[in-house]
Amino acid sequence: MDTSKNKPQVVVLGGNFAGLGAAQKIREYAGDACDITLIDRKAYLDFIPNISLEAFEGRDPSVTMHMDLVDALAKDDIRFMQAEITELDIDAKTVSIIPNERPGAPKYTISYDYVVIALGARLAYDDIEGFAEYGHAVSDAFQANRLMDYLKNDYKGGPIVVGSDRFEQGQKGRPDWLPTALAACEGPPVEVSLSLGHWLSENNKGGPKDITIFTPAELIAEDAGEKVVGALLEAAGSMGFNYVNKVEGIKRITADTIEFTDGRSLPAELKVLLPNWKPHAFLKGLSVSDEVGFIITDMRMRNPDHPEVFACGDAAALTVPKLGAIGHQECDVVGRQIAGDLGKMSKKDADVDWHPEVICIGDMGGGKGFYIHATSFFGGDIQELRMGKMPYMQKIAYKEIFFRNKGRVPSWGVPISEWSLESLMPGKT
Ligand SMILES: Cc1cc2nc3c(=O)[nH]c(=O)nc-3n(C[C@H](O)[C@H](O)[C@H](O)COP(=O)(O)OP(=O)(O)OC[C@H]3O[C@@H](n4cnc5c(N)ncnc54)[C@H](O)[C@@H]3O)c2cc1C
Repeated sequence: MDTSKNKPQVVVLGGNFAGLGAAQKIREYAGDACDITLIDRKAYLDFIPNISLEAFEGRDPSVTMHMDLVDALAKDDIRFMQAEITELDIDAKTVSIIPNERPGAPKYTISYDYVVIALGARLAYDDIEGFAEYGHAVSDAFQANRLMDYLKNDYKGGPIVVGSDRFEQGQKGRPDWLPTALAACEGPPVEVSLSLGHWLSENNKGGPKDITIFTPAELIAEDAGEKVVGALLEAAGSMGFNYVNKVEGIKRITADTIEFTDGRSLPAELKVLLPNWKPHAFLKGLSVSDEVGFIITDMRMRNPDHPEVFACGDAAALTVPKLGAIGHQECDVVGRQIAGDLGKMSKKDADVDWHPEVICIGDMGGGKGFYIHATSFFGGDIQELRMGKMPYMQKIAYKEIFFRNKGRVPSWGVPISEWSLESLMPGKT
């Protein structure tokens, strides 16, 4: 397949938070200096962070959390290809794809001048022994709806565990300031525990005392900082939740237990799990990848050996924890870099390093939420926690603004959230 190539060709792989965000930022900063093509296997954006909230509030996330991607891209003159990406040839600067609107299409090769790898990660539930028969999750609409069916129809009131499997983070190219995380993203297990506890109480099926939150690490959500987690655990403990740390990983689950790799086990009728977040198999072994398959970049999200290769979002090795909010920060950096290369932005404005910050707003059920803003994991000193109605309202409002603006969150969106929550609400740390 060939297209007219008068302008530099930018190909963005993946069209969820990082892919859409990067494509929009490149267009915003580089204007019409390049052609942009975005490739994803699905034609919608999946608003993953609000899936569990929707499910616990009785809505089907496949109805409420899917945003049309093609329309959003067309607004910015970004071409969309719906296809399975099967191969990336770094030396030849090509991507192999199999269009998947209808089965039976052959493989095509697309050339690029710049490639942005925003393919996220594979949530490896299939690596957990027993998950298919006995596991539950909330990371997509199918899983969340399946969990709600189980809770409403089959749950008998027994013990519940919520937690993460061990994350295998690559070490090749890892900068010294970035710690090795034992779990990929632990806002979700905290959020799910709190909102599930509320749902059980509301539906007379138990409550927080039935739930044990577990982590492979010394401290759950360690990227939020010790003070934040200490305050969160205190609040959760006072509600009745149980907590187990340092389980190392999940060995297997059965009908009524979870076994951990450290030798311990817990009784568990319901197991709501987050797995290892693995890079996609075809990225492993590339010259731009670390030993597990995440893409190595510098702080401008550019591969040091292949300056035409960028990565952002969960696919980037630097993105730890794997948080949409971090991907959002990285998209801006990618847009500036490409605009600078194409002569559309001054070096001073283009050469802006990524400044990592953890920002996470989670649902607690009952119209309340928690807000975390932290840099301590990366060596900074911010550790802010707020809990109450305002974080919940902001979680809902962020999704509304995102959908209405087709992914273009106004530049004041995140700063105003930070300011209002941190200035108007009492701190919990
Ligand atoms: C339950 C849960 C709750 C979360 N809550 C929060 C939260 O509150 N706040 C927060 O900031 N983060 C949250 N996260 C993390 C957040 O969802 C991710 O960090 C974010 O989705 C990463 O965005 P991404 O675009 O990098 O990757 P993804 O969202 O994984 O998107 C990758 C895209 O690439 C496409 N793709 C992948 N492989 C191929 C292929 N071979 N061919 C074609 N297309 C392909 C996929 O279809 C997808 O559209 C949560 C995650 C989970 C699981």
